[in-house]
Amino acid sequence: MAVTNRSLWVLQQLILNVHVVSDEMDEATRGRMEHRTKQLSRDTTRLLQELEQKSQEQRSKEQTPVAWRGLLFAALQHWQFWAIAGMLLLLILWVCWCLRRSHEEGSSSEEDSSSSSSREEEEREEQNEEEESEYTKDLTRHFEEHIQWPNQNLFTVSESVRSLVNAFILAARQVLSDSSFPVLEPCFGIGSAHEGWSPDEENIVYQVLVPLGPPSGHAFLPELCSPGQVPERNFRIRVELQCTCLAEQLEGGMLCFLHHDNEELRMYQGRSLLQTLCTGSYLDVEKTACRLHELVKACWVLLPHSHQWLLTMLPYSRSCKFKIARAEKEAIIEIMLGVQQGDSDIFLSSQASEAIFTPSTTWTLSCAVAEAKFFELTTRRAPDGSFHLRCLQLCARTLVGTGFSSCTLKTVVMHLLNTTPLSGWHKTRFLLRLDDIMRYLCHCLEEKRLDHFFFGNEKIPEEIILPPALQRAEPFNLFQHLAQDPDAQAEAMRQFMDLQDRLTRMLTYGH
Ligand SMILES: [Zn+2]
Repeated sequence: MAVTNRSLWVLQQLILNVHVVSDEMDEATRGRMEHRTKQLSRDTTRLLQELEQKSQEQRSKEQTPVAWRGLLFAALQHWQFWAIAGMLLLLILWVCWCLRRSHEEGSSSEEDSSSSSSREEEEREEQNEEEESEYTKDLTRHFEEHIQWPNQNLFTVSESVRSLVNAFILAARQVLSDSSFPVLEPCFGIGSAHEGWSPDEENIVYQVLVPLGPPSGHAFLPELCSPGQVPERNFRIRVELQCTCLAEQLEGGMLCFLHHDNEELRMYQGRSLLQTLCTGSYLDVEKTACRLHELVKACWVLLPHSHQWLLTMLPYSRSCKFKIARAEKEAIIEIMLGVQQGDSDIFLSSQASEAIFTPSTTWTLSCAVAEAKFFELTTRRAPDGSFHLRCLQLCARTLVGTGFSSCTLKTVVMHLLNTTPLSGWHKTRFLLRLDDIMRYLCHCLEEKRLDHFFFGNEKIPEEIILPPALQRAEPFNLFQHLAQDPDAQAEAMRQFMDLQDRLTRMLTYGH
């Protein structure tokens, strides 16, 4: 175990040193790295000697004359030997590669007037590139094969979940044809599972957002909860009755809520939305979620899925959550509700705000659909073998139990995906991208600034439609609390070191 712990420490040191090398390419750093390489080599030799010594001790205990080759074979069968010897060999390759990388970057800035030495340098660079490619491949292949990646096919299940919810929406429309419940539109897949990664691999929740439209004779008028507050994230949705007398005369059907008396409406049409799902004049999230909960239960038997799957409704407050199960399979589905802002990808959603208490009439600004669209675009454009989702998945695994949220990590990765070529996320370079993610997060913590991905970001892909107010908005700092509280920043830096340790362990042990 001591051997394993030491190898872990060596790996930690390596990662820290890689960080340093990439930042500063001076002679002193290269000197330190060369010294480190020699030290790692010595460590490797010593560790192998320790293994040999342990084997000899074992042999003397058993008093069985076993040849060294036999012992080595026995050691090879032991996972520790594989883990340590393989890892340290690859670590040395990595350090060599980093040294070479730093040397190349350092030397590229220097002028060289001699044409003969230029040719030699070009040849050397070509050779280095070939060798670098081999180093990278070896190292990356080792970690890629060593890590336990999740088996779930998130995309396939997400698609089935969207199909189920859309079937429910069609059934609900039939049930609701005479009422003034908001119009349910086809759903959007949102959240990590739909995007192709999951921070919690055991309890995956498949989220969808169902857009709500105003029913006939009603209008939805969003209002800011606190005008002047920046950023504008909390809204209320005022429901206003509209005259439908003309449509009533031309098409028949619904009575005008404004110009028929209550008795007539009660007898022939039922109550307006203001009398059912509103608190005052505002659409109530909890009342709407409660009605949706009842609708799912009522419509379930109308769906073909009900013949094979068992439905279990789960506790709800601002969304509708349920589990479907069949034999060994099960999926938890959460339906969020949202009112679209114009024709944009931004919704006022039923999701709770970050405050401790969210009033039932508050609808929060949600970029979940825009985020899902960004990941869809990225995944479609990325070349085969892209590891951008696996990088996110791997880092998300390390977050459990730390103060960092998966939202923070996702924001970091979205900024990097949006500013670096997608070809660079190929699986052969995933260690570099993991290093980029950690460095970006570290830099944000030091600067106490992580910009929200959508607020005032001029580099958003044009396929994602943002409301003008969001395009014009000032960048919003998600680390504002760190800027205001030095103790919180110090704690965040401590947790970042812990995060790095966890990632190191995950790379070492594969889980
Ligand atoms: Zn009217």
